[in-house]
Amino acid sequence: MNTRILLLALPVLATSAFAQPPEIGQPLPPWREGELDIHHINTGRGDALFFILPDGTTLLEDASGKTLEAAPFSLPSRPDASRPPGEWVARYVQRVMPPGHGGIDYALLSHFHGDHMGAITADSPLAANGAYRLSGITQVMESVPIATILDRGWPHYDFPAPIRNATVDNYRRFLDWQIRHHGLKVERFAPGRNDQIALLHAAGNYPGFEIRNLYGNGQVWTGKGNGTRELFPPLHTLGKDQQPIENILSNAFVIRYGRFDYFSGGDLSDERVAFPDHDGAWHQVERPVAEAAGPVDAMKANHHGSWDANSAAFLAALRPRVIVVTARAEGHPAVNTWHRLTSKALWPGERDIFVTHVSEATARTTYGIERQARSTQGHVVIRTAPGGDSYRVFVLDDGDERMRVKAVFGPYAAQ
Ligand SMILES: [Zn+2]
Repeated sequence: MNTRILLLALPVLATSAFAQPPEIGQPLPPWREGELDIHHINTGRGDALFFILPDGTTLLEDASGKTLEAAPFSLPSRPDASRPPGEWVARYVQRVMPPGHGGIDYALLSHFHGDHMGAITADSPLAANGAYRLSGITQVMESVPIATILDRGWPHYDFPAPIRNATVDNYRRFLDWQIRHHGLKVERFAPGRNDQIALLHAAGNYPGFEIRNLYGNGQVWTGKGNGTRELFPPLHTLGKDQQPIENILSNAFVIRYGRFDYFSGGDLSDERVAFPDHDGAWHQVERPVAEAAGPVDAMKANHHGSWDANSAAFLAALRPRVIVVTARAEGHPAVNTWHRLTSKALWPGERDIFVTHVSEATARTTYGIERQARSTQGHVVIRTAPGGDSYRVFVLDDGDERMRVKAVFGPYAAQ
């Protein structure tokens, strides 16, 4: 409450759109120069985050998509099942794209799982060019141009071992075609760097802004320069069943804008919890990644809030005020993870937790969630004020494409 009074007392902010939150039931007002928007798009089918950076540069992290796992655990498609999730993502991105933008500047794949890049099956439709099939990221680019794609595998897709499956094979055919015909740029996500995802339009106006690549493929930022250190032992010293799993290879980054910080880390998890027979602490990558990030204002929960992710040490290092759980299956978030997310023994102070969908089964098993969560259905949008000193959270109705605001939270003072 004090924050709100202070903000309204400042004449500059009082006259800006940021000081006046939109009315409930009205569409989300468009992004404006200087604001940082983070859209957690709910398709019910996996992660898709769209960032509009302060100068209008755009970043899509993951592109949702169907998964190969058993359907009974999946959540309903949003807005509905009449279109595939990648197409819903493309349409959402086109609605909120800054004026004058022809396409997405950067697309980042956190890792190579179907709920992040779009699984390919025998019934996935062919692209109009006939060269590859459509799902997730390839479906997004069917209607929205992408200038640069970053992933953890380029160019050889051989870490920790050659990655061969229908989804990645199709994705590589897609990259080859787009490079040859549309000049697509592809780079491997480089942990430690803070210039791989850069403001492209007016960087000079936002000297404090950066996206710091924290982690990928076992390499974590040291906190000094662009240096990294290796978390994994030499892979040849590990048995076949001890090799790192795909989730703990996920790319992670932190965005800093003025006082505001936001963390996103794909499906990073605490593999020691999932596989207690595995030797050594090296599987537990969440903690060193969070310690490299330092405390943040807001974060996407790792691995959809699954039971094996968002460890106590990870959360104690990040100490978020706002947490967004991007659910895509029953048990997102899981009851043990929910207790960690809400535990004031791990870090003190208030925190607001937003879940993109809480199913009936999740509500029954993750007890307390319906009472404690700030939202249980909808897209979740974080919008900072110009300069990053404060931010709001909007929950949008995901049942149609009208972008209506269901609830507004904040302003929160960035710490
Ligand atoms: Zn996932």
